[in-house]
Amino acid sequence: MRIRLLLPVLALVAVSAATPAAADPGPVTARSVTDACYTWGRTLAQGASGDDVRQLQIRVAGYPGYGGVLAIDGQFGPGTKAAVTRFQQAYGLGADGIAGPATFGRIYQLQDDDCTPVNFTYAELNRCNADWSGGNVPAATAKANALVSMWKLQAMRHAMGDRPIVVNGGFRSVACNNAVGGAAASRHLYGDAVDLGAGAQGFCGLALQARNHGFAEILGPGYPGHSDHTHVANRSTRFWSASACGI
Ligand SMILES: [Zn+2]
Repeated sequence: MRIRLLLPVLALVAVSAATPAAADPGPVTARSVTDACYTWGRTLAQGASGDDVRQLQIRVAGYPGYGGVLAIDGQFGPGTKAAVTRFQQAYGLGADGIAGPATFGRIYQLQDDDCTPVNFTYAELNRCNADWSGGNVPAATAKANALVSMWKLQAMRHAMGDRPIVVNGGFRSVACNNAVGGAAASRHLYGDAVDLGAGAQGFCGLALQARNHGFAEILGPGYPGHSDHTHVANRSTRFWSASACGI
């Protein structure tokens, strides 16, 4: 989120502007800012590929459309274009599906220095251990999966009026999963599952909305063991069940 002007640019600005507007930096351009987490160096459009595309896909993973899941594969195809367009629409930007300075500028405002979205933290997504170890995937994979889920939640939070979403927990090691009686194949063991607690949105409100934000697994009221939270996660094939919510 922290945006720093590059020093040569700052020097030029200082000559002509007596009081740089610290509270409102104004429009950002790819060349004039660096972000503490990640800085894009080029405009990205359909046909592009690379790690910068993959970084973009993580940030717009919450905008695949109803029932969709955006691939985080570094290939800017039609699905990525549609997700970028929905992100732009959600934030009142020019919606052309091309990620340039305005889109990146909004992402910089939405991300913390550790690359998590401003309203969610790694600590919330892991109440099990300190290092993301002991699950069904390597620790780095579990943490990376949690990051994608957080960006999906950020999209969902914005769509529901930017009210806080309560996170009860996320990643579990096998030991943590066994301790709470979790299923043997629980997505919590992979880091992408998140249990959402009681908040203004209601459990069914969360479950219903989650269908729009890239969660292939949604379990809520009506599904055994889910009367007191809504569970959202990634998985290879869709499984939604919250019969008390009409899902
Ligand atoms: Zn769960």
